[in-house]
Amino acid sequence: MFSRKALESYPPCNALCFRIVVAILAVLSLPCFGQITPWNPVNQVSQTQYTAYQLSLQNMGLGLYGGPSYDQGYRNRYNAAGTANASLGFNEARLFLKDQFTAMGLAVSEQGAYSNIVAELKGTENPQQVYIISGHYDHREDNTDAPGGDDNASGTAGVLEAARVLSQYHFKSTVRFIAWGGEEGWMLGSWDYVRNVVKKNSDPANQNVAGVLNMDMILRPGWDSQPDHVKDLDLGTRWEKAGCLDWANQFRNSAALYAPDLIVNPITHGSESEYYEWYASDQGPFMRMEDGYLYPSLMIAENTANEIWYKGTNAYYHTFNDASDRLANDPNNGSGITYDYDFATNVVRTAVGTIAAAAVIVPEPSGLFLLLGCVLVLRRRTSRTAQ
Ligand SMILES: [Zn+2]
Repeated sequence: MFSRKALESYPPCNALCFRIVVAILAVLSLPCFGQITPWNPVNQVSQTQYTAYQLSLQNMGLGLYGGPSYDQGYRNRYNAAGTANASLGFNEARLFLKDQFTAMGLAVSEQGAYSNIVAELKGTENPQQVYIISGHYDHREDNTDAPGGDDNASGTAGVLEAARVLSQYHFKSTVRFIAWGGEEGWMLGSWDYVRNVVKKNSDPANQNVAGVLNMDMILRPGWDSQPDHVKDLDLGTRWEKAGCLDWANQFRNSAALYAPDLIVNPITHGSESEYYEWYASDQGPFMRMEDGYLYPSLMIAENTANEIWYKGTNAYYHTFNDASDRLANDPNNGSGITYDYDFATNVVRTAVGTIAAAAVIVPEPSGLFLLLGCVLVLRRRTSRTAQ
């Protein structure tokens, strides 16, 4: 920063020129000061980058990222029996995720027997309050040729793209980006996290989960049996719980603002007999109320579990054909439904806007210091000139 000595040692300078330069610096610092809103990260969400992440994850198991030692000759990210028994593709994805989050400057750790990858952006004012944006990166319950392009390279790519843009800002609350393992074994990774990190850790920072956004399958909206069926986004939560309802409404309000083309559909049949509508992915353990705990959480998906399991809305679910290249080239794809990257990008924009608003985006310290420096120099220069 400017010292008085340094200032006085400046060569004689045209006062007007000096003031203009300082004023320009001050104006340049303004975007970093008080002007930042959730629109800034939302508008940085890139469909091109999202697509690149999704394709990388879909191709895990071919050694394209990790080298020949990860090439198993087919695509798969199986780890339902724990990472010790995981497929090469899962381990390649694990390496990829850690490298990507680390390159973003986030604090990265690997948690539990199913290798959840946790990347953290620490809050500046309320670090003990945590927002989570997540998706499972494993696929599926056995080690066969199964690329899982939609389930769930699509959601994991959304977590990466959200992390890429949000990591460029600071927030009052902590934001954690989590790629879950073991989901296909019935949410084994997220159960491990809720039981062993959220509830048992002595650090209060791990206990105060203020909101979870979990993306599981966000690339193939529409129904196979009805190709013209509306392409909506389905939300699952415990609507009868005030905290969950409020969290879901924050997401719906963000969708209206940041992705007005997105049709958002709350899944209303969340009774105990159909508990899987809010439970059947990694948001579930946060809302199961084991030991009485309930954390506001939201399932974000192209179809409800009921639609996928019982109404056959996704003919490629858990098959060898769940990949962008196979769908596009499959003569049996009668419905003609393929991956919809516009749809997924809108989902990621909404998730980023929701987190940026809830965790509260703050001005960049560098911008504040620059502005303060400019004001001090101008004041000192003005007083010197007046003497
Ligand atoms: Zn899934």
